[in-house]
Amino acid sequence: MNDSKSIKKSVWDMALSRLDTTMDLLNLTSGLKKYLREPRKILEVAVTVKMDSGDIDIFKGYRVQHNTNRGPAKGGIRYHPDVNLDEIKALALLMTLKCAVVGIPFGGAKGGVVVDPRALSARELENLTRRYTFEIINSIGPERDIPAPDVGTNAQVMAWIMDTYSIDKGYSVPGVVTGKPIELGGSLGREEATGRGVVYSLLSALKVNNIESTNYEVAIQGFGNVGSSAAKILYDLGFKIVAISDVEGTIYNPKGIDPHSVYNHALKTKTVAGYKEAEGMAREDIFGLPCDILIPAALENQIVKSNAPGIRARFIVEGANAPVTPAADGILKEKGIFVVPDILANAGGVTVSYFEWVQGNDAYFWSRREVNLKLRDIMERAFYQTYAAAQEKKVDMRTAASMLAVERVADAVRLRGIYP
Ligand code: NAD
Repeated sequence: MNDSKSIKKSVWDMALSRLDTTMDLLNLTSGLKKYLREPRKILEVAVTVKMDSGDIDIFKGYRVQHNTNRGPAKGGIRYHPDVNLDEIKALALLMTLKCAVVGIPFGGAKGGVVVDPRALSARELENLTRRYTFEIINSIGPERDIPAPDVGTNAQVMAWIMDTYSIDKGYSVPGVVTGKPIELGGSLGREEATGRGVVYSLLSALKVNNIESTNYEVAIQGFGNVGSSAAKILYDLGFKIVAISDVEGTIYNPKGIDPHSVYNHALKTKTVAGYKEAEGMAREDIFGLPCDILIPAALENQIVKSNAPGIRARFIVEGANAPVTPAADGILKEKGIFVVPDILANAGGVTVSYFEWVQGNDAYFWSRREVNLKLRDIMERAFYQTYAAAQEKKVDMRTAASMLAVERVADAVRLRGIYP
């Protein structure tokens, strides 16, 4: 989507305008509105890296804590060339709402570095991660702010953050990050938790629309952590995956695609493009293809005013954060598409991150089955609470989720009061 460059600048404004709408519906006081619009802490750092060439390079890094009233700040770290402060602020605000909507005791944060991780060697990536960690080290910690993986980062990056933080403290602090490798105190089920949560949300959405069958066609934009996990779980449940895209292109086969096989192809080639048993297309084409269910699982601002009219799905489940612009939202609503919003649909990742944090604090680890059952409980509870609020207040699922979340954060602010 490359009208998204200009849209991207206002991603924070879009997040604020949605927040304002919610706060107006809830009749919050003007002081509380001001408070919830303002991130609590913003760090902007220069990340100096010794490159393989022997020279140094400087990358811009951010960490934003939007709100900590319900608990320590929680949110991923993104490595991507388009990272900017507006984007990180918007994603931090979404994290505050996401943790509140699923009822886990965290506030919201997000971090990022302006870098294309694919262009760095493993050693440069490690150097960058350790230096970024050092630059934000006084703001993070298991009781302060707990990073996790997001676009362009993974369990290995979390291991480097944990190690750098632990070396600085002088003892091992696994609780400083979630999404760690299992060997370092990660949780079973964390890797695929966001995709699994997307699937649970979809199953609930089908159920409230009186659909029990899995005989439905699915298109998935993005084949990273979220998109590939969701694709594999849905395929195993019997859904037909007809299209998958990533940054390099779209693959389409109306007879169905085996995402496990695409995953193995992408492991070797780093992209879904070129997969032999499907037709190759431009990456934007994913939005015009026939399907019943569309799962955007790439980046924000992908479904916009220009491509929303062409969407043929009946259900959209937002694996990505903020993939639909407010203008496109109106179009999807007119088309009668049932949208499960990001703060609900992709909350599985932060939920299992919470489980990881709890297991780490207790030094007692659960089975994969236990993790998945507890995840399902939380995702279903949040879905049905949101659905009930949407029915009661006669609003869409996005507005209902946002109202539930803002109400919970506002309650926490009122109960704690303002210091001094
Ligand atoms: P990732 O880096 O693992 O994968 C991103 C995927 O999107 C890649 O396949 C990439 O090629 C693709 N992509 C990038 N730009 C694209 C474009 N313009 N068109 C099509 N595909 C494109 O990232 P991820 O962790 O899977 O995150 C994806 C989304 O889900 C992000 O919005 C992220 O904030 C959100 N999210 C992630 C988690 C998590 O646990 N990882 C949790 C909640 C939300």
